[in-house]
Amino acid sequence: MKRYPDYQSFRKDLLSGKVSCISQVEYHLDKIHSHESLNAFLSVYESEALNQAKIVDEKIKHGTAGRLAGLVVGLKDLLCYQNHPLQAGSKILNDFKSQFNATAVQRLLDEDAIIIGRQNCDEFAMGSSNENSAFGPVKNPLDYTRVPGGSSGGSAAAVAADLCMVSIGSDTGGSVRQPAAFCGIVGIKPTYSRISRYGLVAYGSSFDCIGIFSHTIEDSALVLEIISGADDYDSTVSKTPVPAYGNLLPKLIEKKFRIAVLDDIDQTALQPEIRDCLNQKIQQLEAVGHTINKVTFDLNEFVLPTYYILTTAEASSNLSRYDGLRYGHRSEAVTNLESLYKKSRTEGFGSEVQRRILLGNFVLTSDYYDAYYAKAQKVRRMIREKIREIFQNNDLILMPTAPTTAFKIGQHTANPVEMYLADLFSVQANVAGIPAISVPCGKDHQGLPIGLQFMADDFHETELLAGAQALMNLA
Ligand code: GLN
Repeated sequence: MKRYPDYQSFRKDLLSGKVSCISQVEYHLDKIHSHESLNAFLSVYESEALNQAKIVDEKIKHGTAGRLAGLVVGLKDLLCYQNHPLQAGSKILNDFKSQFNATAVQRLLDEDAIIIGRQNCDEFAMGSSNENSAFGPVKNPLDYTRVPGGSSGGSAAAVAADLCMVSIGSDTGGSVRQPAAFCGIVGIKPTYSRISRYGLVAYGSSFDCIGIFSHTIEDSALVLEIISGADDYDSTVSKTPVPAYGNLLPKLIEKKFRIAVLDDIDQTALQPEIRDCLNQKIQQLEAVGHTINKVTFDLNEFVLPTYYILTTAEASSNLSRYDGLRYGHRSEAVTNLESLYKKSRTEGFGSEVQRRILLGNFVLTSDYYDAYYAKAQKVRRMIREKIREIFQNNDLILMPTAPTTAFKIGQHTANPVEMYLADLFSVQANVAGIPAISVPCGKDHQGLPIGLQFMADDFHETELLAGAQALMNLA
């Protein structure tokens, strides 16, 4: 049993018989048990994972193993895995089990990945710190007094602490990139519609995007290639062919990119060490031959409000299906149908989810629809157009992933708006629907990881990954 820095090196040893899937699953199970206090996993599929490992070991002997043979994967509690519990971090889905596999999950299984468990997250993916889970907060493995980021906090913490090799999370407004930055790992969210959302619990359907946590760009590229692409179960998923990201990466390694840097991002909210790190990376990128272009975005102050108006509106509709009748929790103390709805939802949803349902319903009421919802839709289009303009002369945009490094547990829980500010730089990619990746780029004076992100134009994941590799290769 040994620690592998990435799947690729494990796979090499696996195929040459130096290591088995069983021993690697045992290694990760040991890690999970010794890190229980992180609260990263809600369920661990111990005997199943070991059985599956045995099957994959046999396939390896016969030369029939898939492209992800023995990849030990954790799933955010938002992805359907047939006959396994699924709760979206919420009491309202108590005792619920998935009846089918999410398309992304099915594609992992088809390539012989091994699913080790279900990971803690903010309730219905609403949060930036993983403190909104009905199952308690997740801790940051680098400092147990701090948050791992959210909403896919359990998924990020699990990869960072080596409890699994890769995690699958979801990114509606930064929930893969921000926790990846807080935990010092790689987190990618592809173009909206690149990966099927079939079997992903819906939050803001026009923003939701499955994403990947890994230690290396190569591992993300491989998993992305496998789970992306057309799907009969999701009519919104793109039919654009999926490039072989993994194979293309080495070919692009010498490519010099035109990189846009926004000169009007909110400096007041930005931790000075992150600003310094960004400036240092800009200089280093220039020194190795990339071109840096300063651009003005102009619409920065509208991005966060647009995000919160539209996602809460979509969430209020998506979450109306949890009515106490069809799924999970049903209140006992009811007298009629209306009180069943009210009490089940009041007891089942946590306070942040309730706040967003209220806010979402508010912006959709006939009195305020034009002033908020319709206006936010228009601003979203303006943001998209402005970003499109930037990509006419640039391949990538470089930005911090988050305004600060990992903050203390409880630091922002009293003030929701303060918490929403943690998403200042991450929601832009979701509002525009473009792909983005967070890369670990250094540490602050407390030794906490700093993440920077690249964004690229729609379906330019190959350039995005290659740029991220170039960034990671800098000293
Ligand atoms: N923090 C953001 C929110 O609470 C993003 C969440 C996400 O990407 N799922 O909406």
